[in-house]
Amino acid sequence: MFDQHVHSSFSFDSNENLENYINVCNENDIITTEHLDFENPIINYKDSSIDYLKYIEQIEILNKKYSNKFFSGIEIGYTPNSEKRIEDFLKDKNFNLKLLSIHQNGIYDYMCVNKKLISLEALIQEYFEQMIQALESSIEFNVLAHFEYGLRMIDISIIEFDNLASKFLNKIVELIVKKEIAFEVNTKSIYRYKKENLYSYMIEKYLKKGGKLFTLGSDAHNIKDYAYKFDEATKFLLSKKIKEIILFKDKIKMEKI
Ligand SMILES: [Zn+2]
Ligand SMILES: [Zn+2]
Repeated sequence: MFDQHVHSSFSFDSNENLENYINVCNENDIITTEHLDFENPIINYKDSSIDYLKYIEQIEILNKKYSNKFFSGIEIGYTPNSEKRIEDFLKDKNFNLKLLSIHQNGIYDYMCVNKKLISLEALIQEYFEQMIQALESSIEFNVLAHFEYGLRMIDISIIEFDNLASKFLNKIVELIVKKEIAFEVNTKSIYRYKKENLYSYMIEKYLKKGGKLFTLGSDAHNIKDYAYKFDEATKFLLSKKIKEIILFKDKIKMEKI
């Protein structure tokens, strides 16, 4: 299956050579989604950016060698403060796939949130309001990636999640349906961070509002995590009567799972 959330050494936090994915892609095409996160708290507020020309050049070289199996992508980490810089960065560049992620708020990464300093209610409000702001901006995104990233480190029941987050999530669903932004089923979140319940909850909301566009992403940073637990995720989707996913390549199309 086509994994649509993958990093290579063009991302600040991966050492994997892009070409190596050819060994694990099982004859499928390959797309990587490299990080763009301006003023990234994880690396001391330096920019995580892509050497675009080098990346595209590398893809072209690999496409000659492997008959056009490689596609380009970017994972855009949105913060309100970096909105203008993101727009400037993207305006003269082409990517087959653009993920929207909320990783950080300009002060800390949500994976490093100090639960003692912020209430769950405030965290949820801040995180999802930032996501809404991204979706309301004029930046074009194809896919909403790991929608629950801000809660990966938090144990939360569905009842609590529904109480605190539903008003934001309803707005998010409305926006992604209207803008035809696909919803990523992130297998790292579901199986490594045990968030299957949050995905079930959100997918139900999305389906109810007429959402039909799903992608599968492992968020692999090395070849051994490529397409992580995609078999299980496929069963999970089929159990919800989701029978196809959307593929972002040179042409966008649906594929049966
Ligand atoms: Zn991410
Ligand atoms: Zn990622």
